[in-house]
Amino acid sequence: KDRTVIITGASSGLGKATVAALNNAGGHHIVMAVRDAAKAEQVAQELGLPAKSYSILELQLDSFESVKTFVRKFKATGRQLDCLCCNAAVYLPNQPVPTFTPDGYEESVQVNHLSHFLLCRLLMADLAKSKNDPRMIIVGSITGNTNTVGGGAVAPFANLGDLKGLEAMIDGEQKSMMDGKEYWGAKCYKDSKLANMMTVLQLHDRYHEDTGITFSSMYPGCIAETALFRQKRGWFRWFFPIFMKFVTGGYVSQEEAGERLAQVVSSEDCSESGVYWAWNGGAKTVGWYDFSMGGVRGAGGAGGKVFKCNPSAECRDKVLGDKLWELSEEAVGMT
Ligand code: NDP
Repeated sequence: KDRTVIITGASSGLGKATVAALNNAGGHHIVMAVRDAAKAEQVAQELGLPAKSYSILELQLDSFESVKTFVRKFKATGRQLDCLCCNAAVYLPNQPVPTFTPDGYEESVQVNHLSHFLLCRLLMADLAKSKNDPRMIIVGSITGNTNTVGGGAVAPFANLGDLKGLEAMIDGEQKSMMDGKEYWGAKCYKDSKLANMMTVLQLHDRYHEDTGITFSSMYPGCIAETALFRQKRGWFRWFFPIFMKFVTGGYVSQEEAGERLAQVVSSEDCSESGVYWAWNGGAKTVGWYDFSMGGVRGAGGAGGKVFKCNPSAECRDKVLGDKLWELSEEAVGMT
């Protein structure tokens, strides 16, 4: 029987490539959860998706109300959910000032973390009913994992501090970062990715035993050509893929990255719960610098095999994880 898979941000980059990979593999009905339905329809046509193999449902991740409406509409389809894949994200490195959602949160905090947190929670009971290998995935990143080159050697560094900033946002203050410090768009992104990975560990601890759901996060590699880098200047968008391909070796094509996420959605290789998956392919040693960090820490690159990557100490911090969980519940109105 076809597995029903919801993918957020299915209309671009990694999400689109994952739809393509799942379509090639067959055996899936894909629910494209997107902010722009017309764009998603165009993508479906471009990929040649058979009419019955996909549906499109609107989801605006900068609005909790939209998340709730999405869940209502999905439930009304009567489909049994087998996999929820939280992939959408914004990266806002060039903004001098933060943007806030209508719900009052800094944009990357809500789009990347809080709305996906709410989506996971609202779909948990449905997913738990699946008899077809239920999985819940939130895409992470090397940049939110400070024990890797991409996360530990290039500032800013992901750090949630004591979450005072998130607490202040909940109290209605226009705080822009979860640690309460001054706004830095690139850091907001990295912090949100750290929160994504911490959420997966929390989900595993809290729900795996009772529900049998496989909870995973993953780092797809540096997909240097996606629209994620839309705020970067022209020269950067030209140079970054070349640098990542020929200097660090951390580059991966959109197609290969899509195959990786599709593997986490469906492959036996990724059926263990509570894991942050990565692939170590072409990451290089340049002079004295080993971009693969010994080839075991998830620096990415094309090729290579999937392996269990070690999340940073902050990511595994149980006390901080519990606090993030409780505050996230409060933020999305679940308490
Ligand atoms: P893209 O910008 O190509 O894709 C992001 C997707 O998120 C788009 O489909 C976009 O919609 C959607 N989106 C953005 N804002 C909203 C919103 N408010 N509501 C609903 N949907 C929204 O980037 P990538 O494909 O590169 O990123 C996908 C994932 O991969 C992210 O989680 C990112 O953190 C992760 N990642 C990417 C890496 C890379 O090198 N590119 C490396 C590591 C992780 P639309 O199509 O309408 O623009």
